[in-house]
Amino acid sequence: MTVRETVERTPLVDNHAHAVEPLAAETVESAFAQYFTEGNLADRDVRHTLNYRAALGVLAEQFDADPDDEEALLARRAAVDHEAYTRECIAATNTETILVDEGYPDRPVAEFRAEVDATVHPMLRLEPTIEELIAEHAEFEAFEHAFRERVAAALDGEYVSLKSIAAYRRGLNVGRRDRADARAAFGTVRGDWDGRIEHPRLLDHCLHEALDVAGDRGAPVQFHTGFGDPDAHPRFVDPTYLVECIEAHPETPIVMLHAGYPYVGQAGYVTATYPNVHLDLSLSIPFAQGGARRILRTAMEVAPTSKLLYGSDGFSTPELYVLAARRFRGALADTLEGLIDDGIITEGYAKTVARNVLRENAIELYRGRSPPRR
Ligand SMILES: [Zn+2]
Repeated sequence: MTVRETVERTPLVDNHAHAVEPLAAETVESAFAQYFTEGNLADRDVRHTLNYRAALGVLAEQFDADPDDEEALLARRAAVDHEAYTRECIAATNTETILVDEGYPDRPVAEFRAEVDATVHPMLRLEPTIEELIAEHAEFEAFEHAFRERVAAALDGEYVSLKSIAAYRRGLNVGRRDRADARAAFGTVRGDWDGRIEHPRLLDHCLHEALDVAGDRGAPVQFHTGFGDPDAHPRFVDPTYLVECIEAHPETPIVMLHAGYPYVGQAGYVTATYPNVHLDLSLSIPFAQGGARRILRTAMEVAPTSKLLYGSDGFSTPELYVLAARRFRGALADTLEGLIDDGIITEGYAKTVARNVLRENAIELYRGRSPPRR
């Protein structure tokens, strides 16, 4: 088997994704392009990201239709049978396991599990858990206890990882643990509770608690890093802001998501520096489309390939799973062939990298939680 064949044929373990959801015909016809950008773009711009144009290409293949006839493609897409279409799209990616962040969209993991042939494992998003428990507890100690119990029960049950969106709420510069400050913050937040946890002192305390609980069990904690929803501050999503938190929890496996895009070099550097850090490459591939090779090559500059993880970050529409798998496999094959041509690695080692990044690294990292199907 050639390097390219190895890349094309290795089953995927998708270490970060979300459920697909049924879309109303009207949503597909009027707002489908929104799913292919993270930005809050004007109508005239949203249909002009290259990721969306690539998505139209996927639709054209699915329906054997003209890729430039957007209106006809969307009309066909609006009429699909959700379940059959989802199953078919994701099966075509040869994904054997999907780790699902249940924080978005608002859909039970069990419903998504029933629509795909891949094994699906849930991950617990921390911030909604914190918000739910703040509403339920008037006293800090009771809240703190309930939070620890909830996280421990999740990891002792079917959840394979934790996930934090601190990047969206207060930036990645998570501070030192300070319980007295956290207690004071809880009083302030609870007294005027608006349903959204943003207070850095309280959120940071909860994150340290969760990182402890995960570390005791060897369970990974995923952090959103890099670009994302418009509420992320474009500067404070740089993964280098997370290093104090990483240093405080050397026993806890930490996964930085989305290649930290556009801070890919920084993400590779942090991954190369701290033994407990791993780097997921989802979202940036496929969203950066033409940049996929550059992202992979940059990530591989100094980070060990044993710490790089395939992910799709597919959400809401199955085409995102297709785009991610296709772009990632193509760019990985090109990158590995380039590294062989440059005399940096052998063909044999390139095949090892392909299998590790697409599948084996994730199995190793999440093993012992709820091991992905072999
Ligand atoms: Zn995600």
